[in-house]
Amino acid sequence: MKLSERITQITGGGSDGWDVFYRARRMLSEGHAVTELTIGEHDIRTDPSILQAMDLSARSGHTGYAMVPGTDLLRDTVAARVQTRTGVPTTRNNVLITPGGQAALFAAHMAVCDPGDIGLFLDPFYATYPGTIRGVGAIARAVQTTAEDAFQPKAEWIDAVADGAVSLLINTPNNPTGVVYSHHSLEAVAKVCRRHDLWLISDEVYDTQVWEGEHLSPRALPNMAERTLVVGSMSKSHAMTGSRCGWIVGPEEVISHLINLATHTTYGVPGFVQDASSFALTAGAELEEKIAAPFRRRRALAMDILAAQNTVGLVPAQGAMYLMLDIRATGLSGEGFANALLDTHAIAVMPGESFGMATAGHIRVAMTVDDERFSSALKTLCDFATQRARQHAAE
Ligand code: PMP
Repeated sequence: MKLSERITQITGGGSDGWDVFYRARRMLSEGHAVTELTIGEHDIRTDPSILQAMDLSARSGHTGYAMVPGTDLLRDTVAARVQTRTGVPTTRNNVLITPGGQAALFAAHMAVCDPGDIGLFLDPFYATYPGTIRGVGAIARAVQTTAEDAFQPKAEWIDAVADGAVSLLINTPNNPTGVVYSHHSLEAVAKVCRRHDLWLISDEVYDTQVWEGEHLSPRALPNMAERTLVVGSMSKSHAMTGSRCGWIVGPEEVISHLINLATHTTYGVPGFVQDASSFALTAGAELEEKIAAPFRRRRALAMDILAAQNTVGLVPAQGAMYLMLDIRATGLSGEGFANALLDTHAIAVMPGESFGMATAGHIRVAMTVDDERFSSALKTLCDFATQRARQHAAE
């Protein structure tokens, strides 16, 4: 039987770039002690206070169908939070609650792309981006960024491929690079969106993990609220990856159509998860800081370790739970380096090539194991790189 082209083309065929990750998982299941610095998941679990709120909600009966657009309480909470953080007037009618940020990314593209339309995304990219755009039947077209520009988006690169496009997907703080887009870059992005009449889909799921500089939501830039859909999530800010709770913030008209989509797809998000999310979002900055603190600490440790050598380069580590390391001095590709490091030292990192062409010759390190193990693995990685670079220079 024939399957739809839309579903068979989601991954675009070929490798999904996760080979090293799967190999590390296999080694772990065979009993090898692998240090896993691959995926973006906290090494702490959801805070007990949030679980208590979830338990209380479920036990008091919030286990039936919840309102499809989200509970009034959570939509109001998200709206107030966004308005406080950005200054843009926002009400519950601008908010749809979704089962996680990924579902929000998909729904946002469903809202603005017709089959055959072109959706732009920046390279390097979070692994699911091209597949999400293809998943709605649109054509995924990459926009280049470069290591030389510290992977900041540039107007001329977007301009060069914007003809015929309907949307642009960006992500700041960025996965995989850890870069936070500057005010200047975001103004340039906004200008290009206005010039080419593009929808801007702004993935801000790491907005509580900023180590340097300031997170700016492009929805707050002049005349951008009417063409911007912001994607948010509880996953990273509150270590609630498994709870599957996120949102889209955008113009009322878009949200009203997205509610129809939710009615015909997800039919909402569990009420007890939403109540726990409302609790977490109103628990104050202290809780968010507690969840971000391990990454802030490990980033500081990494800066010291990397400053003590000169083989491995560090892309500005301004936010999110990752470091993007330039290992081109070794003469290896990111994939070659990641495989060799796994084979020789049982340390698993993601090849830069898994996230696009722009980060070829780089590796992404997730700061997701305890401080001591993290420091030790990073030192080993640097020593390994130095040794490989010497070999390479002698060749
Ligand atoms: N966007 C980015 C950039 C991510 O890194 C992730 C998860 N790793 C997501 C969206 C989706 O997160 P979730 O669906 O858990 O909210």
